[in-house]
Amino acid sequence: MSPTGGSLADLRRRNLATLLSVIARRGPISRAELTQQLGLGSATVTGLTRELLRESLLAVAETSPDGPGRPREMLTVAREVCAWGLTVRTQAGLVAAARVNYQGEVLESREIPFDAGSAKAIDELARIVEDLTSPAALAGHPGRLIGVGVAVGGPVRTADGRVTSPTLPRLANKPLAHLLSAHSPVPVTVENDVNALALAQYLYGPARELRSFLTVTIGHGVGMAVVLREQLYHGLGDAAGEIDHVQVDPDGRPCSCGSTGCLHAYTSTHAMLSAAAESGVLTRTGSDDSDLDQLASLARDGDRRAASVFAAAGRRLGQVLSPVAAALAPEALIVSGEGVRHWDLLGDGFEQSLRAARLSAAVTLPVVVGEWDHLAWLRGAAACALHLPMSDNAPTS
Ligand SMILES: [Zn+2]
Repeated sequence: MSPTGGSLADLRRRNLATLLSVIARRGPISRAELTQQLGLGSATVTGLTRELLRESLLAVAETSPDGPGRPREMLTVAREVCAWGLTVRTQAGLVAAARVNYQGEVLESREIPFDAGSAKAIDELARIVEDLTSPAALAGHPGRLIGVGVAVGGPVRTADGRVTSPTLPRLANKPLAHLLSAHSPVPVTVENDVNALALAQYLYGPARELRSFLTVTIGHGVGMAVVLREQLYHGLGDAAGEIDHVQVDPDGRPCSCGSTGCLHAYTSTHAMLSAAAESGVLTRTGSDDSDLDQLASLARDGDRRAASVFAAAGRRLGQVLSPVAAALAPEALIVSGEGVRHWDLLGDGFEQSLRAARLSAAVTLPVVVGEWDHLAWLRGAAACALHLPMSDNAPTS
């Protein structure tokens, strides 16, 4: 969690952000416990917390008696401290935004029309950021804005938020975090959406007590984030976690990427619907979540062919994650994404193949099925801005 590089002001901001994150995860917490957990000197912790209290970023939750003498102050992050989280929904033609605090509470949410295919997409996104962070937009709303996080699909270069997502060609290959920060009074952070979700789980979700975990998302593709010893692992080219096109069967189903037998060709929403159409369970190949809901209803009503589509998808996912879990031995695997709505149908096949190879860490790995709601991606996007040290991709100038 040690900050690296950047100016003194940046270093200070990272130190303060580290402290805020630890207090958010562990609070209410005393200065003595903070000193112990951070491995810093007590004078440093006292100085930093004094500064955060003065800026109203921290609050004293309670005082607890600590034997004779002065009672201990228990510190917590002020509920007003928040960040905007943004995601681009290309097909819906909008940017979704939510203002989220350190407790993971959504203070407000908005949907703003946005044409990701427009030649002026970057200018348009900058205008949205400018509008959301303007004094006029924030007037009358409770909250203390400290950043903006933007979550997108595909690898994101940590140094400057350069996006390489094939679904957002107009935003690609430009230092998006730097460009957007120029239009905002607070720093703008850009991160891969699954990594962003893992940050939210670490900060205010099911990974609050964990140091090393994997987050896997199921939906229109399969994504993975790797968190090791409280650090998000980006890997070479910031491409860690790209498991969607791992081959699970060399003679298997054709995949949209041109290869054969990818995980994507079994476990993505479109793949499951295609398989259902081929086996005659559905009369047409759908592509959206409501079509998958229909297939799930059939499976729950006892349609064996529908159930076998989900079971196969779950098995393929377990097949890919079993060696990953064995190699990394994380404390838990958190399953997330729109697809977890159907975990009752996917889970058995998944568990079978995850444990089948008897790889020790995969056999004992706790699997946590995260609750899912439509604001989860936005909580993730906001977490990128609330938890800079872990994502470690804040602009450095
Ligand atoms: Zn593929």
